[in-house]
Formats: sequence, structure tokens, C-alpha cells
Amino acid sequence: MQSQSFLEYRCPGCGAINKLARESVIDMYKEQLESCKHCHKILEIIPANGINDQINLIVSEQSDTIK
Ligand SMILES: [Zn+2]
Repeated sequence: MQSQSFLEYRCPGCGAINKLARESVIDMYKEQLESCKHCHKILEIIPANGINDQINLIVSEQSDTIK
């Protein structure tokens, strides 16, 4: 049985937990840009295979955004 699940990731900027629908992960190991719902920073998210068919999200801040 497959239910819609959400992947959680922590914003490295403010520490807020954001959610990403699993089905919106299109390509594994391809970076996707999402914005933090809390501080609206642009985050780069790379989905990676984890154990037990889980997906790990590697999150980093976009470094080329100018303050
Ligand atoms: Zn944030």
C-alpha cells in the first residue's frame, strides 16, 4: 500500500522544517530549487537514495544569492 508521503528537510539558514511531497522529487541526484517557507531563502535540494527505499534530501543554501 502506498500512501503519499512527505520528505522533510531542515533549512540550513533558519532551521525551519520544510516539507516536500515525495512525488515532486523528479530526478534522483539532480538538484532542485525550493524556497524555505519560513525565511524564503532559495535552497538547493539533492535527493539521494537512503536505506529501505527512503529518500534522503541533501540541502544546501544557494551560495550565489546576494544579500
Ligand atoms: Zn529558512
